[in-house]
Formats: sequence, structure tokens, C-alpha cells
Amino acid sequence: MEPIPKVCMDASSTDAPVNGSILTPSSSLACKPDNYLRTALTERKFVCTAELVLGRDHTCGEAEAFVNEAAQNGIPIISLTDLPGGNPTLPPEAFVSYVLDHGLTPIAHLSGKDGNRSLLEARLHGLARLGVENILALTGDAQKTGIGGQAKPVYDLDSVLILWLIQSLRDGLEYNIGPRARRTTPFSFYPGAVVNPFKVREPDLMMQLYKLQLKVAVGAQYIITQLGYNLRKLHEVKLFMFREGMGHVPLLANIYVPTARIAQRMQAGEIAGCVISDKLLRKLEREKKPQRIQRAASMVAAVQDLGFAGAHIGGYGLTCRDFLSIRETAAEIGSSWRDHLDELVFPYPGEFYLLPPDGNGLSQSKGEYQVTGIKPRASLSQNISERVHRYFIQDGSWGARFFGARLGKDRTENGNDSWRRGFWYKLLQPSFLYRKATLGCISCGDCLQDHLNYAGCSMRWCHKELRNGPCGGSRVNGTCEAHPDLPCIWNLVYLGTLAVGDDPRKFGHILVPPRNWCLDKTNALANRFVGLDNRCKRTAVSPHLRAGVGSGSH
Ligand code: SF4
Repeated sequence: MEPIPKVCMDASSTDAPVNGSILTPSSSLACKPDNYLRTALTERKFVCTAELVLGRDHTCGEAEAFVNEAAQNGIPIISLTDLPGGNPTLPPEAFVSYVLDHGLTPIAHLSGKDGNRSLLEARLHGLARLGVENILALTGDAQKTGIGGQAKPVYDLDSVLILWLIQSLRDGLEYNIGPRARRTTPFSFYPGAVVNPFKVREPDLMMQLYKLQLKVAVGAQYIITQLGYNLRKLHEVKLFMFREGMGHVPLLANIYVPTARIAQRMQAGEIAGCVISDKLLRKLEREKKPQRIQRAASMVAAVQDLGFAGAHIGGYGLTCRDFLSIRETAAEIGSSWRDHLDELVFPYPGEFYLLPPDGNGLSQSKGEYQVTGIKPRASLSQNISERVHRYFIQDGSWGARFFGARLGKDRTENGNDSWRRGFWYKLLQPSFLYRKATLGCISCGDCLQDHLNYAGCSMRWCHKELRNGPCGGSRVNGTCEAHPDLPCIWNLVYLGTLAVGDDPRKFGHILVPPRNWCLDKTNALANRFVGLDNRCKRTAVSPHLRAGVGSGSH
């Protein structure tokens, strides 16, 4: 059994842990427990974390009872969700002090779905003030319920850009009050991120893996997987991380104990990004809780044996007793988990694997990646747009030089936005009509179509308006989590990139900055020619290079 994390005591206390007693909020600020997650992962100790889903009401007796029991039974890390499933719930900030005050370590999830970059930064300052270091950066599920109808999607920053913000806050973020330069107080967050390795199709999976590279490159210190029921796929992401220079990053497997009802909802796409085969569903419909606990324990034993850093355990109605039972049974199973492999690998018919099979139920660690060698056909509009870009828009082209000089002169002479009323700016206005007709341009003014190889605009066709790759929510047939009738645009981007002979691995190495809302409803082409858009602010990153803030292309 894992030890109870060390608890800071006040001068009058004995060596006894707090075990259920509640300290005052101020005591958590002055004297917070060690960060058990950071310590364990740094020391390469296998950790089991418990995920707690908070409800819609500020009265949360069950969650309090779970934490009380966790403190008494040596469950050291409690992970607190951030409005999961697209529904309003208690945010992690409301509960982290309760967790800290019981001597436990919280992981606060932070998603970009409900608040813009200002609110996200404010929430991070709030979490820092509460003494929370562990942040799990997420893009967030598409909104569902809310008073008066569905809430407005925000997604100003996705998971990658939240990590980028967190990294900036670690060193203190520069800002100005009038002429005076200031810097926020540095805070040592311990950020993590999520990957979904269970994708069924090649484009969905490859784009997930590229996005994982970006997450590590911009500061993710540990990775937690999406929940899933295919150990071969889970193991593949570990192999990928090792092969792509991310082997030093701790990987925790998400082990979720589903009921048959929840699995049905997952299979129907009501819970985003989950893959449930018919075989698994039929089994769950016949099973009772002890069999599900046994399967979860086998999975914990397997991932520990395969070198994962930990298991992130959750499940609807899972009690502390269940959690302990999973942990204890996993210890008994040990390396004999291979005897239960048919309970751990539930393949989805026809699904894509990154690596060839190894003959023992998992994938070969040294095999070639099985990505397609067949080049898809580019559409007519993609071909035309690529050519126009090459000769007219890209740096050094005659169009860029011609318009750049004239627009730049207008802009410099006027020194304000009046250049947008000048002749040369107006001459470029019809370009919007082409962009709208072919790409669905929404006039964000901060275009990244060249990065996406003109395969379609993610500001228009991605429900979350993402700029650095997909969320984890696409469905088993490759359609969008929020719009089942539309393909996930990032799958089209992957195929479109191959179609024009470009290398999709770039999506794992180029960080696109957040959209600059100053440019909204302005002409993207003119902004490009005068260097106002994101083009010159994109940053080349790798797991070995830390991304700078606005440092331009390397
Ligand atoms: S288009 Fe793809 S990335 Fe965008 S919300 Fe839908 S599933 Fe997620």
C-alpha cells in the first residue's frame, strides 16, 4: 500500500496525519502537503490516482466522504474534473482546499471550453494561490446542457495553448500597467496533458500522436491517456513516446470501470472520444461489479509491468473500497496479467494500429510505423490554392513583395488602422470571396490555411476552432464529436497534407499561437503581407526544445 503523503503540521501538532480532520483554508496556503504526484513521478514510483467527478451542486457530501476515506486509506492523489461531459458542475477550485486540507495531493483539470485566455490565466493564478501545482490541461468536451439551452463554446485556448500559458506563468508573464513593465509572480506548476491512443482510423490516431508531441514540447511533464479498453493501443502510445524522444515523460494509463449503461452511452458517442466494441459491451451487460473490478485490476497490473508511471483510476459509483480492491488485486496479479489478455484487448473491427502485431497480443516495439504509403488525391480547390500560395502569397513570392511594400508603406505612414481604407488594401478585398467559397473562411484575419495545406479551415469546420490539431473527441468513423454528420476537419487536414506531398509530422513540431482577436473581420491576405498574422509567430518546437513565447520561427 502506498504511504499517506507527508502532511505539514503546525507547531502544536503531533506526528499523526490529519485523517479526516478539516483544517482552515488559510492553513492550506501557509502549510500545504508535499506534491505527492511530482515526487512519485520524479522518483519513478508507480502511482494510482483517483478521479473524482464533481456534481452540479455545491453540496457534495459524496465527494467529501470519498476524500475522507481516501485520506484514511492511503489514496494520495485526487484528480478533480473541470465541467466534464460539457455540463455545468462544481469546478476543481471549489474542492482543492478540501483535498489539500486532508493531506492529499490534488490534480486540477483545466479546460478551455468555458473561459477565454483571460479567465484561464485568472484561474491559474487562483489555483496557484490555493497551493495547487498539478494542472491537467484539456481542450474540453463540447458543451451540452445549460440554463436556457446549450452554452456558447469558447475554446480560445486549447490544451496545447493552455500548456503554453502555464509554461509562461512558471517564469512570470510580462505585462504593462501604462508605461511600467510588470511580471506576474513565478509559480512552479506541474502541468500534464492527455492523449487518446484508442483512435480507430489512421488520420485520427496520427493527429493525436502529433498533438502529443506538441504537448510535451510546450511543457507537459506527464501524460494521462483517454480511457479505453485495448491494452495493445495503450502500449503503442508508450512505444511511440519512447521512439520519438519522449520516453522520459511519465505516462499514466486511464483505467475507467464502466457500467453497461455508461458503456452504451460511450458507444453511442454521448461521451466523447470513447471506443467500445460490441464484444466488450455484451460482456459488460452480463457482468456484475466484481468482474469489472477484476478487469481493472488486471489492467493496472499490466500497465505497471509494461513500465507505465501510474494508473489513473475512475468509474461511476466507484467507492474507496473498490479503488483499494483494484490496487490490492493488481498487486496479487503481478506479472501474470498476460493470462488475462483477452480481458484487456478489445479490438474494434478494422481498426488501425501504428505498429505490426508482435504475436503475443501487443505490438512490436521495433516495427515500422504502418502509415499509409498511398497518396490521396488533392481536391481542385486545394490544388489551385496551393499554387496561388506558392506564387503570390508565400514569403519571397512576387505578390508578397509587391503588396507587402505598398501596404507596409501605407501602414507606416498612417501609423494606425487607416491603412485598411487605402487603395491597396481595398484591392485585396475580393480575395475573401474566394476564401469563403472554397475554404469556408470566416474572416478571422489570422489565417493558418497555408499550415493546413488548404485542406479546409479549422476556424470554420472545427467545432472548437482549434489551431494546433484535433481534440480527442472524434468518433469511430472519423466524424466530429459535436457534429456527427461532418468529418473531423483535422482528418481532412492529415489527408490533404499527404495529398500535396507535405509531411504531416510538422503538426507535431510547429506551435501556432492563439488567434489574435484584433484581426477579427479584417483581410487575412493583407495582414499576412504586412506580417501582422500568426505566420511569423509560429514556433518550431520539439520535446527537447522548450517553446518560447512569441519567439518566432526557429
Ligand atoms: S472537428 Fe475534430 S477537433 Fe474539432 S471539435 Fe470536432 S472532433 Fe474535435
